[in-house]
Amino acid sequence: MARYAGPVCRLCRREGMKLFLKGERCYAEKCAVERRNVPPGHHGKGRKAKLQGYGLQLREKQRVKRMYGVLERQFRRYFHEADRRRGITGETLLQLLESRLDNVVYRLGFAASRPQARQLVRHGHFLVNGRRADIPSYSLRAGDRVSVKAKSANNPAIAYAREEVKGRGIPEWLELGADGQEGRFAAVPSREQLNLPVQEQLIVELYSK
Ligand code: SF4
Repeated sequence: MARYAGPVCRLCRREGMKLFLKGERCYAEKCAVERRNVPPGHHGKGRKAKLQGYGLQLREKQRVKRMYGVLERQFRRYFHEADRRRGITGETLLQLLESRLDNVVYRLGFAASRPQARQLVRHGHFLVNGRRADIPSYSLRAGDRVSVKAKSANNPAIAYAREEVKGRGIPEWLELGADGQEGRFAAVPSREQLNLPVQEQLIVELYSK
């Protein structure tokens, strides 16, 4: 599956917000958004014009896409799936993205960032309900268990991320076992629980044109 392989801090600067794509650095003063929060490029500062209409909707969509590391075609598929389901489309869209295996691995603190979680999943370090799962977009259901494979228990990247997440904490819709090697996707989060600084309604408006 294709992925963006360019400089990631550039994406945060373009969106004017932290997308947390680099792990520890995102929480430090070295973060590019902390140091220089202007859009990238020679004319970056000049692009700070107030957006409205289509521009605003497009930026909101790009933000969410980049935050979860999903490319356009797959993101559109998520939207169509959310639109097909009952409920509020924007909220369902975010819930589908939150249910991705790579996102849950990140949220549980088994990886320092979503891009790293994606790579660790791809390399087969995790099990879902006791079975090998190496597809980052795998959609979890409430009650599913995600565990670190026994062989990967001492993987330095996972151990480092687990230390790092202690300060960050784990969202309330996830549970982490006492040994720190297994977590549970206890429930699909509600919009209030997600606490994401995005206006998903703008994405719905964009795709509904
Ligand atoms: Fe974004 Fe993290 Fe880079 Fe800051 S350090 S700009 S949050 S990827």
